[in-house]
Amino acid sequence: MTTRQPHRYVMELFKRNGAALGQVPVVADWEPAWETARFAALRRFPIATIGPGAVAELRPVWHTDLGAPFVGAVEVALQLPGVGEVSCQVPTTYFKSFAGAASAPFVGKGLLKSGEYFNYRIAAFANPPEPPMNPQRKPRFQIEEVSEPLPIRAASLNDFNKRSSAVGEQNESDIRVFVSKQVVAETEQLARAAGGLETASILVGHVHRDPGGELFLEVTAQIHARYAEATATKVSFGPETWDAVSHALALRGKNEQWLGWWHLHPSSAWCNPKCAPEERAKCPLQRSFFSSDDCDVHRTVFPKAFQVALLITSTDAGLRHAMFSWRNGLIVQRGFHILATNGELNPALVPDATATIGDDQDEKACSR
Ligand SMILES: [Zn+2]
Repeated sequence: MTTRQPHRYVMELFKRNGAALGQVPVVADWEPAWETARFAALRRFPIATIGPGAVAELRPVWHTDLGAPFVGAVEVALQLPGVGEVSCQVPTTYFKSFAGAASAPFVGKGLLKSGEYFNYRIAAFANPPEPPMNPQRKPRFQIEEVSEPLPIRAASLNDFNKRSSAVGEQNESDIRVFVSKQVVAETEQLARAAGGLETASILVGHVHRDPGGELFLEVTAQIHARYAEATATKVSFGPETWDAVSHALALRGKNEQWLGWWHLHPSSAWCNPKCAPEERAKCPLQRSFFSSDDCDVHRTVFPKAFQVALLITSTDAGLRHAMFSWRNGLIVQRGFHILATNGELNPALVPDATATIGDDQDEKACSR
């Protein structure tokens, strides 16, 4: 896939009182945006890979009130020769992760205090046109990204819907994710046995395509990351984890894919044991949150647009479940489905409605 960026983006920063601070050229990680378009194409068309001639382009969508050069969203348009075209839009919150770096020079100059809130808006300006290539001088190297075809199985979405029950709020733009009841039981067992440490596993399974064309996921197993490094507040995967999971997948021989991961927040163990139960119940640590470390793990290890993260939060009131995945280039909370193989369903499972994402204030809110 060739990518094109005919515009450069600039972040304008303002103090909370509206005073302008200045402009910073945006250095964005565009990969989640490209990946959003790639996966939109796999969902839209009966294909398993993005062909070599595909061209993706970023286009500013002008702000409805302010007009050009201010940006209300960024469109990612992907053209697949002989197949068709898809486009999706990433919101300006996409730039939030860059805002910290953008504010650093203003903090350095004393114009902003460290940790002070500020506002930003994004503007886009056309890049100068590329000089026409001299046909006599061919480029010495042409780099073409070759994408691996996604193994997709045929299955009936209706059949999965009938054997499952929904957990959490469902967003129609997300692909359905079915997690087997057995996987949920295993994660809960591991969560209870974790003894106040974070624990994590890799989620594996299949990508299915319904005869109607829609893609959906089936999480068939969780492979415990025995070699993942678990401390009280952090989990990290290392090369041993990859080896162990690849080996386990080969032994299972079912051609399962890496669909994501789950991890535990042992919140009961994080909260101050001296606090009264009613205080502990109000502790922000007892709520679900996907920390900035969690976002980093997801971005680095599970960058595919369909890959999910299940979070179990062990609270005084019991285990709570929340799922996160990519939507329009951002990590968001989403619903999922529990699948029972024998038809009988009893997911006594508590979804957490509103987790915070990428914001670590909660972690600092209550310290021992
Ligand atoms: Zn975490």
